[in-house]
Amino acid sequence: MTPQRRAIIQILMESDGHHTADDILSKVRALMPDIAHATVYNTLHELTEMGIVTELNLGLGERRYDINTSNHAHLVCLNCARVEDVPYDFDALELAPEHRCGFDIIDQRVIYRGYCPACAAEVNEVT
Ligand SMILES: [Zn+2]
Ligand SMILES: [Zn+2]
Repeated sequence: MTPQRRAIIQILMESDGHHTADDILSKVRALMPDIAHATVYNTLHELTEMGIVTELNLGLGERRYDINTSNHAHLVCLNCARVEDVPYDFDALELAPEHRCGFDIIDQRVIYRGYCPACAAEVNEVT
């Protein structure tokens, strides 16, 4: 475990996280001011490959990194980009064998998109 990996894992665990790579970069720099941009990106990639971190495309433009690799779904606010982990029964999602087209399925993603309470109130005020 390199110090860079340890620092990134620590940051993700402490800040209940679905951070962008840039968020993580600025937090790592608070601990390791000299760390190169590419090192942070490469380390995130390695941690993803190792299965410690999950890279998420939540439809927010930038990818998010999640240290919670247990099966869970995400609630995403389309206005403020708030992301919440929610439990989900993935057994209910299982694709029937006749619909798998022969694929060996290793993963599935569930994203609920909408507006968080604060943003929903704002949206209702405007309209
Ligand atoms: Zn919101
Ligand atoms: Zn998550």
